Amino acid sequence: MLAFIMFDPLYFIILAPAMLLAIWAQMKVKGAFARASEIPARGMLTGAEAARRLLHSYGLQRIDIEQANGFLSDHYDPKAKVLRLSPDVYNGRSLASVGVAAHEAGHAIQDATGYGPLKLRNGIVPLAAIGGNLSMIMFMAGLFLSATFVGQGLIAAGIALFGLTVVFQLINLPVEFDASRRARQLLVANGIVAPQEDAEVGRVLNAAALTYVAATIGAILTLLYLLLRSGLLGGSNRN
Ligand SMILES: [Zn+2]
Repeated sequence: MLAFIMFDPLYFIILAPAMLLAIWAQMKVKGAFARASEIPARGMLTGAEAARRLLHSYGLQRIDIEQANGFLSDHYDPKAKVLRLSPDVYNGRSLASVGVAAHEAGHAIQDATGYGPLKLRNGIVPLAAIGGNLSMIMFMAGLFLSATFVGQGLIAAGIALFGLTVVFQLINLPVEFDASRRARQLLVANGIVAPQEDAEVGRVLNAAALTYVAATIGAILTLLYLLLRSGLLGGSNRN
């Protein structure tokens, strides 16, 4: 059933800007990370050491920092209270490594200080994860039964459920921008990055933020597609 959407030209026409932005953002992240990986940070700390120092300044010794596999797979796990850093970031002493590590430390600090948007995001994660796929299945089933009352209900419910994914992406943006803002400010304040090195860290973190912007635009445009395809927006054009 999902194949229907994948071969729908309308889907590609509507989603094209978001897809192109996502590809461009990925290239920017890789380029900025590679470039900043060549520049050692003034403090000469590894990403793991930098994250440890920033967490320490907030009294967050209880948060573990682990090495995890994968390229740029770095994240903070709010359930386990663990920072998982990729090998390049964990061991590297470059502006790229300390920048990404500090961004993840920024999420741990958001968590510890009760930053509102993060709480909201963590609350909606399980719903959005289920809703993302289920909403599409409901929508497709609804289209096949669209002549019936049940079909119309499924379409509306599927679209409403997909709205959760859009809400999740929108809440995610301030969470990500705030973590990067904290990271840059703390890196300089703690002498890990020199003030004149901050712009290079900014390039890496801004490129990463752009991937989240692309994901958000993608979700909004998918919602627009569902509304158009269902005929709820722009009249009935089901075919
Ligand atoms: Zn983040």
